[in-house]
Amino acid sequence: PYDMLVVGGGPAGAAAAVYAARKGIRTGVAAERMGGQTNDTMAIENYISVLETDGPKFAAAIEAQVRHYGVDVMNLQQATALIPAESEGGLVQVKLANGATLKARSVVLSTGARWRNVNVPGEQEYKNKGVAYCPHCDGPLFKGKRVAVIGGGNSGVEAAIDLAGIVAHVTLIEFADQLKADAVLVAKLKSLPNVTIHVNAQTTEITGADGKVNGIKFKDRVSGDEHLVPLEGVFVQIGLVPNTEWLKGTVELSRFGEIVVDAKGHTNVPGVFAAGDCTTVPYKQIVIAAGEGAKAALSAFDHLIRLPAA
Ligand code: FAD
Repeated sequence: PYDMLVVGGGPAGAAAAVYAARKGIRTGVAAERMGGQTNDTMAIENYISVLETDGPKFAAAIEAQVRHYGVDVMNLQQATALIPAESEGGLVQVKLANGATLKARSVVLSTGARWRNVNVPGEQEYKNKGVAYCPHCDGPLFKGKRVAVIGGGNSGVEAAIDLAGIVAHVTLIEFADQLKADAVLVAKLKSLPNVTIHVNAQTTEITGADGKVNGIKFKDRVSGDEHLVPLEGVFVQIGLVPNTEWLKGTVELSRFGEIVVDAKGHTNVPGVFAAGDCTTVPYKQIVIAAGEGAKAALSAFDHLIRLPAA
């Protein structure tokens, strides 16, 4: 068995694995895709000490550092179930889609999250070419340009307020008949001079030319009229979904499906820790996921050294 098994190989899982391996304990990482979401990122300009890099480079560097420490890397492996230890200090089991079962004295869950897509023509085609999901990450790339935000919940309205301070103009598009964000945010949004709000608006297409976004089309759900807004960027803000479906019923999840962790990364299952975008820790960012991953591994190590000798 492993002393520490990390499930997920993004920034959180990689940091956990590096911290574990540096304690000299037997460490494994099982991941569907080493590097996680960073593979899909164009420019990364907010990871401290790295002025600028791109996603594939960052993902490759993550994997290289993990391998450098002799961690057992099981890439392209999907975990499908977690079975808690039968007794305190016993082995936790993780089942994989390929039929294998991995056993470990401690487990760090770091399966990350995925942005919900709007599923309209142009979204996939122009991903990273004007279609973006993270205002903290990509907002500055649209300085002085025109953008739309799809989604009028808290994250959409926060994104619109944030972007309005950077870009020339923001069009906010909400499907329902009113914005669902907190009243204080809606009031703030409405006070901004460079924001236009459309409710009852169904996005129908993200248009582009020469490999770049050049507009968004939406249908007014009351009048049935079609509108085209010329712009350079579209931020999709209709939800971030944690990759935790496989843990339902085993590990405590929030109503958003996030793994509930305390300040040290403990879950409700003894010997099982969690870190990164899959948890209740707010602000889904690389630097935060990496820090949380290191923390979860140190907590797991604390747990291990308190176990009776096997
Ligand atoms: P992830 O990176 O999501 O990694 C999850 C890991 O778990 C992956 O290895 C995945 O394959 C694996 N996994 C999932 N389910 C299973 C399973 N059942 N079994 C096994 N493995 C599984 N953040 C920034 O700080 N700066 C940026 O510029 C930036 N730009 C971004 C641009 C885009 C397009 C996107 C999508 C995100 C961006 N982010 C950025 C956010 C950042 O990528 C995430 O916050 C960060 O990657 C989270 O790390 P994580 O390790 O928690 O999860």
